[in-house]
Amino acid sequence: MQTSLDAIAGNAALKQDLRAALAHRFPQTVLLCDPSGASNEPLAEALSAALLCTGHNPPCGNCPSCAKLRADSHPDLIVIDEGENEIKVETARRIRDEAAIRPNEGGRKVFLIRHADRMNPAAQNALLKVLEEPPRDVFFVLTAMQPGVILQTIRSRCTIYHLEPPAEALPDDGMLDALAPFLRALADRDEYGMALAVQALGKLPKNEFRAAMALLITALRDAVLAVSAPNLSPLLPRLRQETVYLGSRIPTKKLLAVADLCTTLRERAARNAASGVQCTVLAAGSYQICQ
Ligand SMILES: [Zn+2]
Repeated sequence: MQTSLDAIAGNAALKQDLRAALAHRFPQTVLLCDPSGASNEPLAEALSAALLCTGHNPPCGNCPSCAKLRADSHPDLIVIDEGENEIKVETARRIRDEAAIRPNEGGRKVFLIRHADRMNPAAQNALLKVLEEPPRDVFFVLTAMQPGVILQTIRSRCTIYHLEPPAEALPDDGMLDALAPFLRALADRDEYGMALAVQALGKLPKNEFRAAMALLITALRDAVLAVSAPNLSPLLPRLRQETVYLGSRIPTKKLLAVADLCTTLRERAARNAASGVQCTVLAAGSYQICQ
């Protein structure tokens, strides 16, 4: 696992914030949000390592604790990763029980909960209390691509950090221009316009289709934030006009449902679904959600 913050590309300002927080009193429950899904896992690992590191300038990468983390054998790091499956209440109860037990090495205990947006509501409710008042020396690091689907009661207990897409993954303008007509048609609930707009996406190779879905999720996030946090700068400034318009026309809940659909299509593309079929589902599904 990653035991260096410096080795992670991009997010310079966020890493600086994290270092400053680590040097003082680090919040016991944090949520790392990354709509692109590109950087939150390595960053969450480095952050967990920093919390357990016993060297200087954590994570130092050299102390016995960092060595154990690199070998995936640190007894006080508990990683929850259910992959594409939902995180169920039994898992949440196990986390709660485990959190009550003192750390093995006498220092801290860290729970790294990957894909926290896949916790079902019962699991989230089971964790509410321990996230609000974790035992002393217990830390929770949660990651999510779609923090909007996590219950507000959980989010309000977390210190939230938003990641930027890494520089090398920055989209080319052509791809963004191809998404703009879809965003406009979505805002206008224009079924025919959506069907036309996705035609270009249907011709993309699968890896580029995946990238287009990740961008669409980011654009939908910008649309949601254009309403709820208008002072925040958008992640995709080139699409600002479209995302502001979209946010003003379609309710947040529906935009998050379209983002969910994009996540599903992105995962299906990884399993070899044809882009053409996926685009038909995207247009029809989005129209149904927003009509
Ligand atoms: Zn260390």
